[in-house]
Amino acid sequence: MQDLRKNYIAGEWTDGVSHIENRNPSDLTDVIGMFAQASADQLDATLDQARRAQAEWEAYGMERKQAVLMAIGTEMMERAEELGTLLCREEGKPLAEGKGEVFRAGQFFTYYAAECLRQLGENADSVRPGVEVDVRREAVGTVAIISPWNFPTATASWKIAPALCYGNAVVWKPANMTPASAVALTEIITRQDIPKGLFSLVMGSGSDIGQRLVESPKIDAISFTGSVPVGKGIASAAIQNLTKVQMEMGSKNALAVMDDADLDLAVTLALGGAFGGTGQKCTASSRLVVHASIHDAFVEKLVAGTQAMKVGHALGEGTQMGPVVSQQQLMENLEYATLGVSEGAELACGGARLEMPHDGFYMSPGVFLNTTNDMRINREEMFAPLTSVIKVDSYAEALATVNDTNFGLTSGIVTQNLARATHFRRNARTGVVTVNLPTAGTDYHVPFGGRGDSSYGPREQGKAAAEFYTTVKTAYISAGTPL
Ligand code: NDP
Repeated sequence: MQDLRKNYIAGEWTDGVSHIENRNPSDLTDVIGMFAQASADQLDATLDQARRAQAEWEAYGMERKQAVLMAIGTEMMERAEELGTLLCREEGKPLAEGKGEVFRAGQFFTYYAAECLRQLGENADSVRPGVEVDVRREAVGTVAIISPWNFPTATASWKIAPALCYGNAVVWKPANMTPASAVALTEIITRQDIPKGLFSLVMGSGSDIGQRLVESPKIDAISFTGSVPVGKGIASAAIQNLTKVQMEMGSKNALAVMDDADLDLAVTLALGGAFGGTGQKCTASSRLVVHASIHDAFVEKLVAGTQAMKVGHALGEGTQMGPVVSQQQLMENLEYATLGVSEGAELACGGARLEMPHDGFYMSPGVFLNTTNDMRINREEMFAPLTSVIKVDSYAEALATVNDTNFGLTSGIVTQNLARATHFRRNARTGVVTVNLPTAGTDYHVPFGGRGDSSYGPREQGKAAAEFYTTVKTAYISAGTPL
């Protein structure tokens, strides 16, 4: 029997009603472990305990909460190599990316540790004489956190850290594809000085335990990252109980490369943006909108750079791109490669399954040329190491193309022209805009989120997270006249 990893239910490590096996997408002979799947009764029990624990946690002093978050973050940063290796084994990203993810996840906890000490309200005089008003934020209550597999530790951490900072209980349903990272983080959190049952880990399939969680009237808020269809289903379930929601659902990010761009920088940004994390990023540069006058020179370098990328085992020496996460994702990606060609695009390189010394879900990074923005490969989130070049004749056409999407998470421009950079920054309809930088997530201290189908509800990260994880209370005080 493989190593059996349990759920954390009502303050106890608890076996489930069934188990799933977790294998390394870089090497399918490597079994990472067996992971318990929670039952509906266990979910209900942990939700009841969470409510009791939350009241206790909210009453903790701010320094005690701060110490808990600081300890979690510090341990994660100290163990970034070990936990990053585990993450890479189950998700498939190269070790540098996995290590970086765990370290950054730790920084979310240390950032919100400090925020525990920085919770200031507002006060005012009432319009009635002798009456004062005190406005402050309180915890929402029990927060359900539903996280994806592509950044299994970072995404969960930028939700869990503010949830705890602002006084909430957390019930976490991680993606079933990456349970080992979830157990590792849970072990760290639950070793701290927190009330029994404040934090729960409920592993199980999204359609089963995830659906039950989001339908439960025992939760007060849901923070979700994943696909648009699942997000819409969660929003409909949540509205039945008027549960607060925050959702981040991916994108179709564009990087505009202007005729005045530093060409080598543009190619470096495009390669990193398109193929980092094997293209499985909500911020991936999957549309490269390139000015006609530098198109051919850019494409030549882009294709050469793509072909030179070293694809291999996530933990292999020199690997620049690991496998995709699963057989299903691989099949979908290869179908997109075929679809692009059938839509009239030229697949200049890649987009094919790769045989490797280890049996895993490998494919070569691919570049489509001669594409138009109305093709499905330019409208649907592929979550694949595939990117499309769209040729445009002017800055105005580039901006219009960038904005012609149902999504709106990130966009970028590569230019040395201040006027274009400024205009783009102010007119790109995305939640995040970058200038001469890759399309990417944001630092921990500033907001992250998008427009259109990319996001719904308040922003994540930084001080903006307080909007979702707290509720505002307006108090009136009439002190009377001193004797
Ligand atoms: P999903 O949206 O299916 O999964 C995201 C999370 O939601 C997982 O924890 C999943 O659990 C859970 N979930 C699934 N169904 C439900 C439900 N009915 N109720 C509650 N929770 C649920 O994404 P996938 O992992 O299947 O990936 C599919 C596509 O989604 C990708 O190819 C990509 O396009 C997009 N995606 C976008 C992400 C982003 O960063 N914005 C992240 C991940 C995916 P479980 O894992 O057990 O199914």
